[in-house]
Amino acid sequence: MSFSFSRSACWVPLLLAGTLVAAPVAPTDTPASAPHPLRVVTSFYPLQIAALNIIGDTPGVTLRNLTPPLTGCLHDYQMSPADLVALAQADLFIINGGGMEAFLSQATRQLPHLRILNSGEGLEAPPTSPAAGNSHYWVSPALHLRQIARMADGLAAADPGHAAEFHRNASNYSARLSFLRDEMHASLGGIKHREIITFHEAFAHFALEFGLNIIAVIEPENGSQPSARELSQTIDIVRSHHIQALFIEPQYPAQAAQTISRETSVPVFTLDSCATGSVTPDAYLNLMRANLKTLREALK
Ligand SMILES: [Zn+2]
Repeated sequence: MSFSFSRSACWVPLLLAGTLVAAPVAPTDTPASAPHPLRVVTSFYPLQIAALNIIGDTPGVTLRNLTPPLTGCLHDYQMSPADLVALAQADLFIINGGGMEAFLSQATRQLPHLRILNSGEGLEAPPTSPAAGNSHYWVSPALHLRQIARMADGLAAADPGHAAEFHRNASNYSARLSFLRDEMHASLGGIKHREIITFHEAFAHFALEFGLNIIAVIEPENGSQPSARELSQTIDIVRSHHIQALFIEPQYPAQAAQTISRETSVPVFTLDSCATGSVTPDAYLNLMRANLKTLREALK
């Protein structure tokens, strides 16, 4: 398998006089016999890592990630003209779903034949859940396992000739993630302090899976700094709930958490939402294992 991060080096831009020309994407009903490799595009980092594992070294499949490696969550992502070009030439676009790809309607409007694999379909939390409306599915290992299974099925449907490889690779990767997940449940099951404060809403499904209670989010909307009043409310919550730790994410600035920490003497730890990192097959597993270590230390 090969993959590329260059935005347009190998895929010919279809820009004419500043106007986007959406190349008609032929329906790929018989892609196994297609003359060109199956071109898979993932929307962002966690799906790229999963696809890297599922595709493995399957011949005739290329993988690229649409958004730059440091993008993180796609809440505010604006699609570039080069992105549309990349999607115009994709045989399969793998998304997280649940509204994470805010640019999706723009993409499908321009590219009505774009074949989309929604890895988050069916993973929405019920309306009464604390994770209702939250699409950070991949941060929960249990939900990510379901994304991996759905991705393997979707890849197999797009390229039936390699279905066995996709399913075998997905099964191997899922076994490793399941093993880690079991270890996390065993390890976090006995933790005393279950109330946590996080930086953004990335951990709703994670907290649900591991029985943690997110009682405050320092910056509920990406990019917005909490006001002095919101900071002071969070400080009150930290004190009244005897919070043990504040959790920030490496992708976002830590000032607000540090202010709260100074006021309350509660330490700041880093939890990773696995939205950025190294592009290696084990990256998600390594980040999640580091999260386990952090939570054990922070909440003991
Ligand atoms: Zn997010």
